[in-house]
Formats: sequence, structure tokens, C-alpha cells
Amino acid sequence: MPIIQNKLKTGEASFRSSRYLLAMRWYDKREVYMLSPFHSEEFVETKRHYQTREIIKKPKCVVDYNKLMRTVDKTDMVISTIHSQRKALKCIANKSGQTNPLRLTGRHFPSLYTNEKTKRKNPLRKCVICLKNDTRSGSQYQCQICNVGLCVTPCFGKYHTQLHY
Ligand SMILES: [Zn+2]
Ligand SMILES: [Zn+2]
Repeated sequence: MPIIQNKLKTGEASFRSSRYLLAMRWYDKREVYMLSPFHSEEFVETKRHYQTREIIKKPKCVVDYNKLMRTVDKTDMVISTIHSQRKALKCIANKSGQTNPLRLTGRHFPSLYTNEKTKRKNPLRKCVICLKNDTRSGSQYQCQICNVGLCVTPCFGKYHTQLHY
């Protein structure tokens, strides 16, 4: 991780980049540190300053990050000092994981539940939706991706389309 030490004025940014990662320090009311594997030292024009009417330019990675945070979360943008690339990526992954659990993304199909331990021909697996609604019914079907038992109808659809079931 490169160290950026020179002092910055408002709107100024300094960059260090390695082959795979751009490290940026930018000053706008407060200091912002960012690491991005996707950006270059590019500035983009945003809006005009309300007094001077000058076009304000911001580093593209900051603009993109703000956009991302707006779509992921409605709360104010929080940028803290990020010490490592792994931490930065993890933070973004967690945020998107919250609004979009795995079960609501991708393709999931019901498959027949098999269990080698039981000698039953058609073993049943507890349905997570029914369990939550105090109906303890078992199902011959499961979602292998989520690794849960589910009745084909209506629980399978419910589980994969509703955030709160
Ligand atoms: Zn699933
Ligand atoms: Zn069910």
C-alpha cells in the first residue's frame, strides 16, 4: 500500500497506482481515501459551484462510489479510512449482501431431496417457510443452492422472491 503524505487543498487529489490498484487521497471538506481496482487517475465534471459557477471536477472513482452507495443504501455515504484492499472490497460486498440475499439472486430450481443416512425411499426435509409459520410439514424437495428444504408450491417461490417471508 503506497503512502500518500503531501498536504492537499479542497478539491485536490493525489494518486498512487500499482498495476492492479489505484490508491487515491482526495480532499473535499474532509479527507477521503479510496482504493479501486477499476479506476484510473481520471477526473469527471460534476455540477457547477453554486457561487462561483465554476464546474466542479471530482475524481471518477469518488463519483462512481457515491453512485454505487446511493443505489445500495439510502443512508449517508460513509467513507472511513481504509487500510487494505481486502477490507474495502469486503465492505462493498457486505452492503450489497444485505439488500440482496443470495436466495433472491441467480437461478434456483427445486430438486429431489436425498439422504443416504435414512433408509426411507422418499425422505422428507423440513420446509423453512412452513417451519417459520409453525406448520411443520416436510417436503421431498429442496433448493440445493440455498441448501434448505422447501415445498414446491407455494414455499419455493415465496422463499426466492420475498425479502421477508
Ligand atoms: Zn435457492
Ligand atoms: Zn412449505
